[in-house]
Amino acid sequence: MAVPLSLLPNLPHPNTMSYPDTRLYIAGQWRDAADGRTLNVHNPATGAVIGRVAHAGRPDLDAALEAAQQGFLTWRDLPAVERGKVMRRAAALMRERAEAIGRLLTQEQGKPLAEAKIEALAAADIIEWFADESCRVYGRIVPSRGNLAMRQMVLKDPVGPVAAFTPWNFPINQVVRKIAPALAAGCSVLVKAPEETPAAPAELIRAFADAGIPSGVLGLVYGNPAEISGYLIPHPVIRKITFTGSTPVGKQLAAMAGQHMKRVTMELGGHAPVIVAEDADLSLAVKAAGGAKFRNAGQVCISPTRFLVHKSIAQDFAAALAAHAKSLKVGDGLADGTQMGPLANPRRLTAMAEVTQDAVAKGAKLLTGGERIGEAGNFWQPTILADVPLNAKVFNDEPFGPVAAIRAVDSLEDAIAEANRLPYGLAGYAFTRSLKNADLLARRVEVGMLWINTPAAPSAEMPFGGVKDSGYGSEGGPEAVEAYLNVRAIAVMNV
Ligand code: NAD
Repeated sequence: MAVPLSLLPNLPHPNTMSYPDTRLYIAGQWRDAADGRTLNVHNPATGAVIGRVAHAGRPDLDAALEAAQQGFLTWRDLPAVERGKVMRRAAALMRERAEAIGRLLTQEQGKPLAEAKIEALAAADIIEWFADESCRVYGRIVPSRGNLAMRQMVLKDPVGPVAAFTPWNFPINQVVRKIAPALAAGCSVLVKAPEETPAAPAELIRAFADAGIPSGVLGLVYGNPAEISGYLIPHPVIRKITFTGSTPVGKQLAAMAGQHMKRVTMELGGHAPVIVAEDADLSLAVKAAGGAKFRNAGQVCISPTRFLVHKSIAQDFAAALAAHAKSLKVGDGLADGTQMGPLANPRRLTAMAEVTQDAVAKGAKLLTGGERIGEAGNFWQPTILADVPLNAKVFNDEPFGPVAAIRAVDSLEDAIAEANRLPYGLAGYAFTRSLKNADLLARRVEVGMLWINTPAAPSAEMPFGGVKDSGYGSEGGPEAVEAYLNVRAIAVMNV
């Protein structure tokens, strides 16, 4: 339940359009790096430097680790209902500040302001759901096999201080999906947030700070990702690792965590199949999958990427999706009416050019797009490729951008086989009017999340995570809290 704003202390907040420099948050204080180092932050719509972010070094990390350990001892021993109150206050502040935070997010990441604001508001929903869930961390009493004077209990305790590593595509959402369940479980969290988009995740942490979270329960650092993970993961204070990002980096971090016997949640890349069956509602499929495809300029781990359309409707589908792509207004995310912003960084522009050229060279038809827009900023045309051969890069490597690849299939079985061909297994989409088809798809498509006849519908209460190379663990539902709990068995003989 939301806390009425009238009950919140009157807190100062930079409710301003200007983009701030971002500092580290260590032991309840906002501070610069001990050695004063910073990195530049760019606006992807213009390429201009808009601010700086503090770059943590070893002394900063040591201070953050010590604080995380102290914070854990405080937070663990606070009744769940009290932890929930702090979380609800933070959620209320996120709602109150959503417009201002959205503006920061758009300036550093590029997504349209409406999408940015929704991200801030969704964070409030997620925090509130997990605040409630914190009161439902139940153990159990198990009847004894022998002497009835023996009381056997299963207890669930927070695992300890968590190190969280998050990427730049959803700078707020990826952090809140980690900290909300971890805080609900009673853990402290040290977040390494994205250097390219630092201000929006800092505002999320600020909402908790202003809501009165005790010192050390949340920490925030930026710097060199490999150096920070290489130091934090083996460190004895850290008991759990959670990472969102690419599969290759996830595998490296999971291996390192394994060497130190640390618990891990990995939310990695995907290559979402969109299966359009012969009996699909075509306009629904175009609207739902087309809308999802270009959200956040396709830089979404659950973005629809491989469109597998029954041969009888493949041409109509491709033409309709191309018309949709052509109609999109691409521009600065702060400008009125923008439906798709720039790509978040120049690496994605290079990747879009590569996958498009490779597909065309291998025989795909370019129906629309395929070019950079202008010289300033990272703008790429919404791109539709049809008749894409299976050996094209775009059908094998996660494109992570506004490129849709379409391929005709002979049957539902062929579509399922192609969906399962890749090692990824994060999200999938399907369109069919048949209950029998829907049941077959639910049973056979190897993904962590399957949406049938609907765009993606993630929520705090539903599991969010992948199978196969897309990772393990869930960032939604009660399972997300379990990921931050140890299970222990206690037996007491009543003597
Ligand atoms: P990348 O693989 O180098 O980085 C991805 C993320 O991991 C970034 O946030 C980065 O800071 C972090 N990272 C990289 N090396 C790390 C390390 N050793 N320790 C800790 N964190 C580390 O490449 P990129 O160019 O930023 O993104 C490219 C690809 O990453 C995309 O094509 C996409 O496949 C994937 N990605 C996935 C998600 C997701 O939501 N699952 C988000 C962003 C990027």
